[in-house]
Amino acid sequence: MCLIGERIEMIKKGENPYFVKELNTGYVVIGDNQHFYGYTLFLYKNHGNKTELFHLAKAEKAKFLEEMTIVAEAVSKAFDAEKMNYELLGMGDAHLHWHLFPKISGDIENYGNNGKGPVWWYPMEKMYSDDNRIIGEQLLEMKRKLLKELDKLL
Ligand SMILES: [Zn+2]
Repeated sequence: MCLIGERIEMIKKGENPYFVKELNTGYVVIGDNQHFYGYTLFLYKNHGNKTELFHLAKAEKAKFLEEMTIVAEAVSKAFDAEKMNYELLGMGDAHLHWHLFPKISGDIENYGNNGKGPVWWYPMEKMYSDDNRIIGEQLLEMKRKLLKELDKLL
């Protein structure tokens, strides 16, 4: 099983502290590292051989995309984004999953184009530093905020 599949199994067992909400096509989870405050993932429910958006049947694809944009809107409102960054990558783990990053001015310091640019112009070792792992009451607070906005939109 892939890493995302393992996280989903934890959700099903009630053992994933980052889990926020289940939608029709996927699971909303808070990111482990929060340099970009509000970083959220939307994990597609199934894996199998469906590793590209274009592998999904038309109605399923439309639903997955629609739900992703609802999650993005909730993230944007819950964490006061100036702009959202959306990524669906999967060379590390081919299980379909969206990375949803709320962006604010100054969040990539002076990297990129004088501090302007996408999340991936910020160094990976800083983004995934143990210093910005989110736990305990801070994590609960993030989950409450996001769930509140999600429930308004769903
Ligand atoms: Zn998987």
